Amino acid sequence: MTTYRCECGWEGQTSDMKADCTTGSGEEDWSNHICPNCGMWQELKDYKIVEPRHLFNLGDFKSHSGATLPWKVDCDALEVRDWRCIAAVLAKQLMPFGSVEGVPRGGLLLAMAMKQYVTQGGLLIVDDVLTTGGSMEAHRAGRKAQGAVFLARGSCPSWIDAMLYTKGAEW
Ligand SMILES: [Zn+2]
Repeated sequence: MTTYRCECGWEGQTSDMKADCTTGSGEEDWSNHICPNCGMWQELKDYKIVEPRHLFNLGDFKSHSGATLPWKVDCDALEVRDWRCIAAVLAKQLMPFGSVEGVPRGGLLLAMAMKQYVTQGGLLIVDDVLTTGGSMEAHRAGRKAQGAVFLARGSCPSWIDAMLYTKGAEW
């Protein structure tokens, strides 16, 4: 599916746009597409095409901690419905929790999806991918909490649960 981007920053598919069928002569012309965010109309070819994002990517990437990684997970490829599924799986693994916080920015969608599983108990801190655990630890700031991530690369601190694990940080 092709995703288009408007100058205003809106991204979506043609099914989200209104086609403008009025022309000066009153003839139907479906080439103009109206951005549902800013209302600007332009021909489809004048929208920027957004390259599809992929969850798993081979190549040399720099981690937050400066290490070179031979593959990466791009969680921007995940949509809200994906996070809902991940949250449902994690909720089964976790102890009951009374509040949830996401590590910005990667953990925010997961935190939102975890909210429906809040009952009672302590704090849950979530993030998308854990490599060293540094940002989870920093966000916890010494507080008592349990943690959860979508994917843990390599060893995972004992207070953090992951839906998926890889054996080593580099692979
Ligand atoms: Zn727009």
